Amino acid sequence: MKLSHPWLIAATFALAGFVFVGQSSFAQQDGAQNGGIEIIPVRGNVYLLAGAGANITLSVGPDGVLMVDTGSADMSAKVIAAINRFTREMNTFRQPAKRYEGGGGSGTVLTGMVPPKPIRFIINTNPLADHTGGNPALAAAGKTFTGGNVAGDLGDIGEGAAVLAHENLLQRLSDAKMPTRGLPTETYFGSQMKLSHFFNDEGVQLLHVPNAITDADSFVNFRVSDVISSGDIFDFSGYPPIDLARGGSVQGVLAGLNKMLEMVIPEFRSEGGTYVIPGHGRICDMADLAYYRDMVTIIRDRVQDGIKKNLTLDQIKAARPTEDWDGRFAKLPTQANTFVEVVYKSLTAVKK
Ligand SMILES: [Zn+2]
Repeated sequence: MKLSHPWLIAATFALAGFVFVGQSSFAQQDGAQNGGIEIIPVRGNVYLLAGAGANITLSVGPDGVLMVDTGSADMSAKVIAAINRFTREMNTFRQPAKRYEGGGGSGTVLTGMVPPKPIRFIINTNPLADHTGGNPALAAAGKTFTGGNVAGDLGDIGEGAAVLAHENLLQRLSDAKMPTRGLPTETYFGSQMKLSHFFNDEGVQLLHVPNAITDADSFVNFRVSDVISSGDIFDFSGYPPIDLARGGSVQGVLAGLNKMLEMVIPEFRSEGGTYVIPGHGRICDMADLAYYRDMVTIIRDRVQDGIKKNLTLDQIKAARPTEDWDGRFAKLPTQANTFVEVVYKSLTAVKK
């Protein structure tokens, strides 16, 4: 049969597109082509981009791209290329065939390779370099909505994606001499910030957790996809990388983990349901989050116990309060001691 009817051609391509997307072939075939970067579907419009430093969460859809964190600076070119390629392919296969309105020829042309979708928003969960290093390049590659509700506060930024974060993050990145292009264009103080309109068919919420990894942490809630992007408050590849010098504390990390646990809903028992994309590591669910919260709680309690017994930091370290989890979370033996030290210092810090 000759496929000459325009809608038949469209239908054939649509079907091919469905199979293409359904098999997530981007992630599986193209890891090498993308410099080790993988884009993995999570749910709805939400994807995980892995391999560029910290996990990057993407919302990709009709409104463009929103990204949570930008990875390391040295990975920016690869991240931009991977996102462009991904959105272009997605666009191409999801684009319905358009009626050709020009000369009176035979009807329909397929749109072929369409442009990639613009990066509209960047959200930062903390100021650490593996989360914000890509900011300048990614923000420059993006495009804000002109004249919309999200035009940046900083007038000289001009074009580029809007960068959203807690106000302390602006200070922290300024202190770290981040180029202006990579600094937040819109900040919030207090407990939360919401995008004022749906983006890719859902509400997106930033929630601040005071003094957790730093004093500038947010985690992000995708309300329809039911996905939380946690940042390093939940780092499933290791102990939480609390940065005391930048305002972090174990109490804050626990408060953040508990807050997320209040929000997640399992599908059955404690499995499935809400997905949590951790700062590092694989896609998680409530059971993983609860396991991690319990781990941090128990280590905190053990260190607290030692402090009550007037043990020194060295004595507490020697008692190995992290022993049960070191196989899983201490990539290097020193990381266990570092975490114990951070917990100890958090608990003994004099309140200012
Ligand atoms: Zn991190």
